Amino acid sequence: MGGPMLHKAKKWILSGATAPASKSVAHRMLIENGFILPTAKGFYSLLPLGQRVIDKLCRILDSEFQNSGAMKVGMPIVGTKQLWDRTRRWEAMGSEMLKFEDRQKAQLCLQPTAEEMCTDLIGQLSPLKKAQLPVMLYQIGEKFRDEMNPRFGLMRARQFLMKDMYSFALDSESSQKTYHNISNVYDRIFGEQLQLADDLIKVQADSGIHGGHISHEYHVRSSLEEDFVDYCTQCGTFSKEETPKMCSRCSASPQKIASVEIAHTFHLGTKYSEALGAKFQGKPLDMCCFGIGVSRLLPATIDLLSVSDKALRLPRVISPFDAVIIVKKSLMSNVIVEMTSSSASRYLKGGILLDDRIEMSPGKRIHEANRLGIPFIIVLANETERSLVTQEPVIEVFTTHPKSADPVDQGSMTLDRFVSFVQSQLYGSYSNLDHLHVLDELGAAADENGPQK
Ligand SMILES: [Zn+2]
Repeated sequence: MGGPMLHKAKKWILSGATAPASKSVAHRMLIENGFILPTAKGFYSLLPLGQRVIDKLCRILDSEFQNSGAMKVGMPIVGTKQLWDRTRRWEAMGSEMLKFEDRQKAQLCLQPTAEEMCTDLIGQLSPLKKAQLPVMLYQIGEKFRDEMNPRFGLMRARQFLMKDMYSFALDSESSQKTYHNISNVYDRIFGEQLQLADDLIKVQADSGIHGGHISHEYHVRSSLEEDFVDYCTQCGTFSKEETPKMCSRCSASPQKIASVEIAHTFHLGTKYSEALGAKFQGKPLDMCCFGIGVSRLLPATIDLLSVSDKALRLPRVISPFDAVIIVKKSLMSNVIVEMTSSSASRYLKGGILLDDRIEMSPGKRIHEANRLGIPFIIVLANETERSLVTQEPVIEVFTTHPKSADPVDQGSMTLDRFVSFVQSQLYGSYSNLDHLHVLDELGAAADENGPQK
């Protein structure tokens, strides 16, 4: 007892599946390194490593949205024709919305989005009290799209995980305030939490099938030609138009940049609340909706942060484990293992993997940890063994970093030195440490399940 829970590599690393040929390096790495497994065309199972990454993402989203005043709900994935007819979208959604009949011949669909269902929910609760407004409801749930040509794994899968949020305000002015506040939350999630600020491209966009007043798309660069944004090399403006001929600011001709959309926000106005009776004092409520493609963030960020198919890179905060401790056979039952894990867990709250695959050489296991992009790699091998007779035993430390394929050798250090090294790495790269609370919770949840040894 005591000490943090250690996750054992023998149990957790379920790699070895062969990836099909794909233009997406991220997709191949997710399969080969044991994060996901294809089940059928456009469908994937999440293996324990992949599920851990998704769980971490969801914790960040829960924490950020709940801190902003939003409340989490759970709505059915199945919608009725009756409901979708009220906004005339049953037909308008086209063939990507999968429709089917139950045994009583009721017409149903697997919802690709939930404006109708969430607005109907508010409609049933209407009239709301003034103190309840604005109300922001979100869910993180599976969505289905009958994609004609599913490709690149989780990037364009038929079933996918989305965070979708719907806000209802008294009037347009109040709604715009909500839109602005949540836009700031998005900037914090992608910028501070996921550290994508330098790569995030936010463009004003067309509202499309959702209708409404204003909308923004969030993109990151991608090696796949799934989508494009226009970039003006003259004045540095990003934009998105169907057929851009010149930059709206300086009239130079823009360049196309391959990208992938990871999130979208809309100020919708009253279209849905009018149709579905979401009202305050007889007036329809003013709506916004906010989406984040949760499962798509895996391939999108891996594609962005990995420079070689030899080493997968994710944002540090959603790496499956914060650290791995690689132990030489003769040290497996030595107290140094527990001392090291206690030291590591002082600041690293995102889980520690114990590499107990003693039949593999430490060198081979460092290589594998680098492949998985685990940020801190700790080795207890010959150097540690020799140092055990001294007052201050040492461990060997390596780190991995986004946009770099090789582990960085940080040398040997005592456990005290290691704790301050970890601290400096974390404090050095973040201006505030609010995001660490999220991982504290993850650590706490793991501890409740009890130690695993
Ligand atoms: Zn320009």
